[in-house]
Amino acid sequence: STPGGPRVKREKILVTVRLRPLSKKEQSLKDQVAWECVDDHTVVLKQFSHDRTNSSAQYTFDKVFGPTCPSDIVYEEGAKEVALSSLRGINGTIFAYGQTSSGKTYTMRGITERAVNDIYKHIENTPGREYIIKISAMEIYNEVVRDMLKPDSGPLRLLDDPEKGTIAEKLEEQIVKDIAHLRHLIGICEAQRQVGETSLNDASSRSHQIIRLMIESSLKESSGCVNSYMANLNLVDLAGSERASQTNVEGSRLKEGCHINLSLLTLTTVIRKLRSFFHGCLDLLDPSCEACAVVPSIQIQDSTMAKRSGHVPYRQSKLTRILQPSLGGNARTAIVCTLSPALSHVEQSRITLSFASCAK
Ligand code: ADP
Ligand code: MG
Repeated sequence: STPGGPRVKREKILVTVRLRPLSKKEQSLKDQVAWECVDDHTVVLKQFSHDRTNSSAQYTFDKVFGPTCPSDIVYEEGAKEVALSSLRGINGTIFAYGQTSSGKTYTMRGITERAVNDIYKHIENTPGREYIIKISAMEIYNEVVRDMLKPDSGPLRLLDDPEKGTIAEKLEEQIVKDIAHLRHLIGICEAQRQVGETSLNDASSRSHQIIRLMIESSLKESSGCVNSYMANLNLVDLAGSERASQTNVEGSRLKEGCHINLSLLTLTTVIRKLRSFFHGCLDLLDPSCEACAVVPSIQIQDSTMAKRSGHVPYRQSKLTRILQPSLGGNARTAIVCTLSPALSHVEQSRITLSFASCAK
């Protein structure tokens, strides 16, 4: 073992931005395209696109996907490494974050489909290992957790398990037989999300959906070295980000029934804290160390975390409690921030971009 205890590789959160095309409806209402991708890294408010010194109108990220960018590229560059890490025992979470109608569900479907294909491709190409894949799916609506694989069941209680951390009591976990079975189960979850997806104030804009794949594997013939892995991959379609901003509370459009979404607000706080933590200790990393990449069971101690960045309020919401083992620590996180190009959505888009800037 390494002197001073095992080293944990802390990866930055992978943050990308995806701009969707103007919708038919927006076109028919003569809405304008307000944002432009000037290169792979930069999105600019159009009226300022020739003034690259105006910092409030220009945002730079690891990757920006334009309106014609295919879902293949979004997956490859914005999510794939997190998805594949789960095959090596590293917990991962992939989020879509953005206002309602910005393309979160569209993006998560594309990512989920491709991640599933990649996972099964990997399994096929790794005949020496035995894999068990399980799936569960939850929806969080107004801080109430429901089982998406058992739609008629009641709210689920969250319990603290000394070994597993926070678990949802009675949550259905299905063993997946093959890729067709997995697609079928994911289809069941997606069909539920589809109901009434069009209005800005519908349930899907207020709820979070978590599809969780639990991936276990072991060597068929034990050769004495590390031979079993276990990790969760969480695929999360978040509530509309307008639910986390104060601006809409007084706004007229969402006046009715607009509650600040506690889970979304807490998630943004957790991500900011994690980010300041990562930035604070980048010097401790050894990027050339292969061993650092696979230390599945180690979570950074809360006390270490607290010292670096203040308290991380995981326990303040259902979403962050459920995701805690797959956020921060040695987990990998990718966030695709989805953006409407429409001029009528500029204020929400700015809020999304400033969240994205905080997370990177
Ligand atoms: P959200 O889940 O954020 O509310 P959706 O994913 O439902 O938004 O997207 C809103 C609409 O825009 C849908 O009709 C969807 O098909 C379309 N859309 C979203 N992103 C894209 C994209 N990148 N390319 C083409 N159409 C898109
Ligand atoms: Mg949606």
